[in-house]
Amino acid sequence: MSFYVTTPIYYVNAQPHLGHAYTTIVADVLARHMRQRGADVFFLTGTDEHGEPVADAARDQGLEPQVLADRNAERFKALAPQLEASNDFFIRTTDDEHMRRVQEVLQRVHDNGYTYKGIYEGWYCPRCADFKVENEILEGNRCPIHEIVLERHSEENWFFALSRFQESIQRLYADRPDFVMPQARYNEALSFINSGLEDISLSRHRLKWGVPVPWDPDHVFYVWFDALLNYYTALGYAREGEDLTDRFWPATYHIIGKDILKFHTVFWPAILMAADLAVPEHVFVHGFLLGSDGRKMSKSLGNVLDPFEVIERFGTEALRFYLVRDVSFGGDGSVGMDAVHVRYESELANEYGNLASRTIAMILRYRDGAVPDVELDPAVVSDFDGLDERVASLLDRADVTAALEQIWQRVRRCNRYVEESAPWQLAREDGDAARLDCVLATLAEALRALAVLLYPYMPTSTETLLSALAAPGWGYDGASLASSGGGRTVSALEPLFPKR
Ligand SMILES: [Zn+2]
Repeated sequence: MSFYVTTPIYYVNAQPHLGHAYTTIVADVLARHMRQRGADVFFLTGTDEHGEPVADAARDQGLEPQVLADRNAERFKALAPQLEASNDFFIRTTDDEHMRRVQEVLQRVHDNGYTYKGIYEGWYCPRCADFKVENEILEGNRCPIHEIVLERHSEENWFFALSRFQESIQRLYADRPDFVMPQARYNEALSFINSGLEDISLSRHRLKWGVPVPWDPDHVFYVWFDALLNYYTALGYAREGEDLTDRFWPATYHIIGKDILKFHTVFWPAILMAADLAVPEHVFVHGFLLGSDGRKMSKSLGNVLDPFEVIERFGTEALRFYLVRDVSFGGDGSVGMDAVHVRYESELANEYGNLASRTIAMILRYRDGAVPDVELDPAVVSDFDGLDERVASLLDRADVTAALEQIWQRVRRCNRYVEESAPWQLAREDGDAARLDCVLATLAEALRALAVLLYPYMPTSTETLLSALAAPGWGYDGASLASSGGGRTVSALEPLFPKR
């Protein structure tokens, strides 16, 4: 089974912010989970480096665009390891191999007869690097995303005959109701499609900073087509001497934010069809992270949550956990440092961290660290029945928040079990030794399975815990409870989430 997940490639002119971190973290959760299940996984992220905004910024700073792109790409390349993202490759759209393959694919679109030369005139947002169609323009001729006033542009371009894909795209949506997820985004894309697809420009004439159009080198390709194709081109050269295209194409999941829905759910499948390539299986569109006041984050409102500050105060694992837990994946949600603090204390430190600490401490104190080799308590075993399958099926739909909630209910269950069974009382009476063995073995085994289930969300702390439990394997066959937990010797564990 192969599984190919992507983030959007991030525009190099931006500073890495919470939105970038969010998409990367969720893609990483899915990639790690599928590796646990033994899938052949490829996880791609990278940077989008062409287009007018980069050329303009470089000119303002007196630099060549490539110099600016090289400098800014480094910040995004550094972001992935800071988030513990396990991406298999980092693509840059200025890679020679990418550019060559973009030309190859779009030449095929041209040879197949889906391009023509014409005059484009329309309302253009320089920040989106995109023309806007009438029905999406805000009052006062403003960009629906950036809210800045649009510019009237007209130029001679190569066009992509998108309108000829009206029926094929409608058929794609009819045949595959999970092509775009969640449902609300599917509906939004479909209503855009049903309003009638118009041809779109494929090239820019005046601009030099881009991939040259091979059949008309005075033009470069419109940056969006250059960017979208990264998902396909990367497979051709990500591993030296190996072409991974047959192994991983089409992509299983493109994870994107809703601001780039139209490009991924309409233009992208059409251009792939025009080049005789398979379209991706799913595009998952997540919502916006809003400030704690429920408004769009902005420096002037002082409601920005900086991922690097969260990492500094609470650690990367807390950032990963918090974002997936606090905002239901797919919807919009408010986030803020106070809420991070609350989740950290109440859930990571008091519930999960404490369960781990006291389970290991009791096994050390009452059994010299040896996990008793006895039958587990059926009351707890039954609460874990089918959990691994439920989590897997939720993650098959990219529902990272609901899957985490399923796991967390068992973290709470185990804490209640500690209170109910009161091992410290059992330890006082010799007659209760068998019962104490059972409780300790059950807790050790449940804690181990929980760590395996939580591994995709918090890879480092779960690996620490698994090694303290002398059960280092994180494969998904270990996500359910074994019949007995015995034969291992645990070792002391520092608090996983110390009080801040
Ligand atoms: Zn815009």
